[in-house]
Amino acid sequence: MLKTLEAALDIFFPPTCLNCGKKISPSEFLCPACQDFERMPALVCQKCAQPLKTVQGANLCSLCRRKNIYFFDRIIAPFVYKNPLSQILKLFKYYHYAYLGDFLKDKLADFILQAGFNYKEYDFITYVPMHKTKLREREYNQSKILASKLSKDLKIELKELLKAKAYLKSQVTKNKRQRKEEIKDNFSALENLKDTRIILVDDVVTTGSTVSECARALKEKGAKEVAVWAIARNINENPA
Ligand SMILES: [Zn+2]
Ligand SMILES: [Zn+2]
Repeated sequence: MLKTLEAALDIFFPPTCLNCGKKISPSEFLCPACQDFERMPALVCQKCAQPLKTVQGANLCSLCRRKNIYFFDRIIAPFVYKNPLSQILKLFKYYHYAYLGDFLKDKLADFILQAGFNYKEYDFITYVPMHKTKLREREYNQSKILASKLSKDLKIELKELLKAKAYLKSQVTKNKRQRKEEIKDNFSALENLKDTRIILVDDVVTTGSTVSECARALKEKGAKEVAVWAIARNINENPA
């Protein structure tokens, strides 16, 4: 009976892709084109994850070789931040499609396992926090959802370790320098983390300033290593 009802519903309301509205099979929620995410190239900087043109000393980009500008130790991200993934991440982040979290988490977990990342050597998994006012507006923190799902899958203890001090308005209209200034010192760590190794989860890494400031706060409390895990990384126009 239920099956017949389902079939009838499919005729009158055929299942459509969440992102582009194209007709899809009932077990899916995105069409194949909207799941076709561009992978990051195999050769990336071991610290900031920007693509490298050639194999270089210690596999660091020229920026990371010249200067120590980031407080994290490395970024791991399977995909390039561009359409259709950027659109899917927006749905996940702003439009309450929280169940996309499972789909995205699986993609990240697969990549971590394939890459042979030594996640078992880490003490905690945590996430980029949201200021409490923003959390009230948005109702959930997409990075926390990802971190908690990864914690269960990979059996790494989830811990709320960071607090955002100020409520920063949308970052979209600001340039890199403004963002960096505003976000500087915006995070504090909630407990002593002496000699711990921490995985920090965010949905997207763009300039790297947010995750770097989070890593700074964790290291100020004694963390000895911070690895950033994100679904997507933007690629700078002039690769090193
Ligand atoms: Zn689609
Ligand atoms: Zn780099």
